[in-house]
Amino acid sequence: MNRFAFIDARTISEAAVSASATVAEAMTATPEAISRSEDSVVKAGGIDLLDLLKEGLLAPARVVNLKAVPGLDAIVEDETGGLRLGPMAALASLADHPLLQKRYAALADALRGSASPQIRNVATLGGNLLQRPRCWYFRSQAYRCLRKGGGHCFAISGENQYHAIFNNMPCAIVHPSTAASVLVALDVTVELTDAAGTSRRLSLEDFFVPPDRDLQRENDLRPQEILSAICLPKPSPGLRMVHVRQGEKDSFDWPLADVAVALDLDRDGTCTRAAVILGAAAPVPHRAKAAEAVLTGKLVDEGVAAKAARAALEGATPLSKNAYKLPLFETLVRRAILKAVV
Ligand SMILES: Cc1cc2nc3c(=O)[nH]c(=O)nc-3n(C[C@H](O)[C@H](O)[C@H](O)COP(=O)(O)OP(=O)(O)OC[C@H]3O[C@@H](n4cnc5c(N)ncnc54)[C@H](O)[C@@H]3O)c2cc1C
Ligand code: SF4
Repeated sequence: MNRFAFIDARTISEAAVSASATVAEAMTATPEAISRSEDSVVKAGGIDLLDLLKEGLLAPARVVNLKAVPGLDAIVEDETGGLRLGPMAALASLADHPLLQKRYAALADALRGSASPQIRNVATLGGNLLQRPRCWYFRSQAYRCLRKGGGHCFAISGENQYHAIFNNMPCAIVHPSTAASVLVALDVTVELTDAAGTSRRLSLEDFFVPPDRDLQRENDLRPQEILSAICLPKPSPGLRMVHVRQGEKDSFDWPLADVAVALDLDRDGTCTRAAVILGAAAPVPHRAKAAEAVLTGKLVDEGVAAKAARAALEGATPLSKNAYKLPLFETLVRRAILKAVV
């Protein structure tokens, strides 16, 4: 790990002024340029950032700590009845928060199922959404792949069992945040604040950047910008939401596949709006539009759920070692839909 200066920012603007580069930009330089870097990058809980520093994938001159910025971990109800989550809220405090458990139980479940108790006490929601991909080639200094500014994807013809089954060319990462599938299903917006204190808002779905838009970053965070809030809309009265996941083990690991389903049911039980989002399936949380179309306007029973689950695989292009994800996702989508309507 290189030596770096540690800056405790006291306000969002102070943090944004100091954050000269996003981590994605700082990691795209050549190895020689990385070691001479003058960049300042942001740290939240530090779980992902310190991994990158320890692996020599990132060598900033300064690390800007967000922990001392007052209020950045607040969880408050907004004027519309939605919730405004501070990006520095720890995964554990969110999972245990009574309002989240009551109104957004699927999100609380997804957070409780992420990582391990020790990590959830330190990791923040902002850092979770902005963590870099887990592709093992990307995480190794030995491989300068496309996403780090190199000329080749090593996963496409290599070890790709944990990789994407949708939109996997020319880079087959899966988005690493488990909470992201639920947040996209909920139509959440994010707020980003720059050094002048000006904020912009966009939907989380649009904030994520797929490889065909830009191969070297996973989101639209800009230099000198801080993720300042994650805004959850007020749930509609008929909202039914479920998150399910399957991993090789229950803790300490990312899921092989996870699914968030949000259904708006009217008084008769007819589905008026459906969101079916697959996690660990594509470079960004994958919206299964064909499954949503099957569900919308229907009374959802076992037959409809099975049809939607098959439709969720539409457009899949599995790689040499990850076709096992197809039946896994089909089962998880069917299970999540049926759980949502019981
Ligand atoms: C063993 C293990 C198992 C795991 N399992 C899971 C899992 O199942 N599901 C899952 O989702 N995650 C999992 N994780 C990942 C973990 O949850 C993330 O690394 C963690 O949430 C990152 O949050 P952090 O606060 O530590 O972020 P940091 O490491 O501090 O930051 C992460 C990135 O976000 C940027 N950043 C952070 N906050 C802001 C902000 N407000 N504005 C601008 N930039 C910001 C930083 O610059 C950095 O690039 C696991 C990690 C480990 C080690
Ligand atoms: S999948 Fe993406 S991150 Fe992994 S080796 Fe290929 S280009 Fe790099």
